Amino acid sequence: MVDGKNGIVVVFDFDKTIIDVDSDNWVVDALGATHDFDRLLSTMPWNTAIDAIMGELHARGTTLRDVADVLCTVPLDPHIVAAIKACHALGCDLRILSDANRFFIDAVLDHHGLGGYFSDVTTNPSHVDADGRLRIAPHHDFHAAPHGCCLDTCPPNMCKGQALDRVLASSGAAGGKKQRFIYLGDGHGDYCPSLRLGREDMVMPRKGFPVWDLICEDPALLQAEVHPWSNGAEMEETLLRLVARVEEE
Ligand SMILES: [Mg+2]
Repeated sequence: MVDGKNGIVVVFDFDKTIIDVDSDNWVVDALGATHDFDRLLSTMPWNTAIDAIMGELHARGTTLRDVADVLCTVPLDPHIVAAIKACHALGCDLRILSDANRFFIDAVLDHHGLGGYFSDVTTNPSHVDADGRLRIAPHHDFHAAPHGCCLDTCPPNMCKGQALDRVLASSGAAGGKKQRFIYLGDGHGDYCPSLRLGREDMVMPRKGFPVWDLICEDPALLQAEVHPWSNGAEMEETLLRLVARVEEE
């Protein structure tokens, strides 16, 4: 489904936006693999390292159930759950755009009964192989060719700006009424999509996090309105206020 009923598309980052931690770090730390993950990170990109550490954990006897169980303990602010449910009830089209992976995101959303609130999850694909090992692949196959975005804030496996462009294009083609976008994120990778939004759209960067610092370096580079937030309560209040404002316009 492309069209939200009220014409507002809310795009959420996942790590440190919907959940309050980084899901990759949470899983690796909880399963006692922090040191080994750091070793892998010194020689390969993050997305490749998380796939590799899943292989090492599987070889040590860690099961898929163990991985899912630690994802069920990820902290999720009740204000953010309330914000998601309220936006959905108002008719917003909710989407996730994340550099985590499908298995981690689904495990968290399903545990909290939130899976059905999102019309689309764009992230790094995952699958379970014949041996029961979780495999995590890059969203963009950078071994075949680079994604071509020139911003050094986009990792090789995913340019969220290009991914957002596809959402913008599909939404624009869906009907006569122009859709309005609200984008929420915290990280370096959330800067590129923030730059691609139009003046009718809104960015909600998490204050004090990398995307906020990048925006503050030269706010004039963004066309979209900027509305920062720091915690779940502020996110809920700000997001619902913006949705109500857009609905009145
Ligand atoms: Mg994030």
